[in-house]
Amino acid sequence: MTICVSVGATTIKEAAEAVSEAQKKGADLAEVRFDLLKEPPSDLTPLKNVSLPKMATLRSKAHGGQWAGGDKAKFNLYRRAVRAGFKLIDLEDDSPLLGSRDRELRKAELVVSHHELGEAPPEARIIEIMLLAGARGDLAKGAFVVNTVGGLHRLVQAGKLLSLTGRRFVLLGTGDLGPITRMRYRRLGSSMTYASLDPGRETAPGQVDVATLKKMENGIITGITGMPLGHSFSPALHSSAFEAAGIAGEYLKFPAHESELPQLMDLMRELDIAGLNVTIPHKESVMEHLDKIDASAEEVGAVNVIVNRKGRLIGMNTDASGLAQAFKAAGADVKERRSLIIGAGGAARACAAFLRREGADIIIANRTRSKAKEVASRFSGRDVSLDEAAGLDFDVIVNCTPLGMEGFPSQLPIDPAVFRPGQVVMDVIYNPERTPFLTEAEGRGCKTILGREMLIYQAMDAFEAWTGQRPSYEVMAEAVRKERG
Ligand code: NAP
Repeated sequence: MTICVSVGATTIKEAAEAVSEAQKKGADLAEVRFDLLKEPPSDLTPLKNVSLPKMATLRSKAHGGQWAGGDKAKFNLYRRAVRAGFKLIDLEDDSPLLGSRDRELRKAELVVSHHELGEAPPEARIIEIMLLAGARGDLAKGAFVVNTVGGLHRLVQAGKLLSLTGRRFVLLGTGDLGPITRMRYRRLGSSMTYASLDPGRETAPGQVDVATLKKMENGIITGITGMPLGHSFSPALHSSAFEAAGIAGEYLKFPAHESELPQLMDLMRELDIAGLNVTIPHKESVMEHLDKIDASAEEVGAVNVIVNRKGRLIGMNTDASGLAQAFKAAGADVKERRSLIIGAGGAARACAAFLRREGADIIIANRTRSKAKEVASRFSGRDVSLDEAAGLDFDVIVNCTPLGMEGFPSQLPIDPAVFRPGQVVMDVIYNPERTPFLTEAEGRGCKTILGREMLIYQAMDAFEAWTGQRPSYEVMAEAVRKERG
């Protein structure tokens, strides 16, 4: 493992302390970003005294750094760094100093770096940039912005092809999807990667702190895809579960357009992503890109969890089992009960699958009647209009629309006249915890089940499928409480 901690300090004394700390944290190398110092250093002795191998970098403004000085000043500082024992120096791939035959500079290994400030270009261009850089020094380094799945895919493909040259290089992503290119740098073909000393002390966007990188050496990567990926409780739930189980793991966000799903599935295999949650709008469209759809997803007709079993991607559905466990935990028996599902989307189908399994009598009411009809026929139920439903008698009512959710109208999805004392009423919405629908039902004497319960149980099932370990309900419930603040 080769981790280079990038140190951005304002004085040489601070930089030396940071390099020494990096050494204690297990870094193999430290990059000193001289361009981030408050003023040019007069004395490099404090750095000389730290034994960790060091790289000197003066990143110019055009390459995303702070160095505004000329080439002569750069040349002089690098010479002093080499004299002070620096083993590597970094020159940008358009630097006039690349032609220098200075003997002193040549004592250090030369990293030739390229910094693309826009999204990663096509693979062929990345390869060309890296080959040119590699030809001009000892090690080519390329940093490319990866804010999209497409960009990340191009970077990984370029890395795979570059590996065939047998030359050492460092390829990394900056931007939103940058962290996985650091955690899985070997899979990109890189011989090392850059890290920050601590979270919050990054010298480039997308950097991961050294402790996390070391933890993730053999760690499990999971995450979520959808578009857009707004605020989700899932990262908090799964991160807490990893921590409580003592498993090295991370849960990352992979926002993807539908056209990027094939690339994302490829990346799951290439970067060894153990599993993903799938959310709106990809729960159905992702199915055609998977190797197998298990019985739970087949039944619902949607995938909310993908499991990577040695490169075989299996789609499953834990929404229905999450609902089943939520009802069971509440002691609510739905067998042969008259049940109303409001809505006809993904959550409604998961609910219908659960209720059919339990032998309940299913009625579906939805704003768009044709969709209610479709779901009703798939799950051997009956569809009615929302007005008609309000006048019928039910034992169980479940809201599967987003009405009442944060950011949506707070109106009720059905006339509250439908509520009767003793009914079991659930809202699948978990934010807010108590929706207007549940408050109204409670006020009319119904027993209520929170959407939070389904959220927790579906996440427990997903985590178990990814890691083989069942997380504790309490740990995930606590994560939800903390997330709400
Ligand atoms: P979806 O597939 O988009 O379906 C949404 C359903 O709600 C559709 O039937 C839609 O009716 C209806 N709807 C949307 N806006 C409406 C409005 N303004 N008035 C009346 N009906 C409206 O979404 P989904 O995946 O089923 O998700 C639905 C809710 O469940 C979301 O709030 C989601 O957060 C929640 N959920 C919770 C969990 C959990 O673990 N607790 C899991 C999954 C989902 P049309 O057919 O007429 O468009």
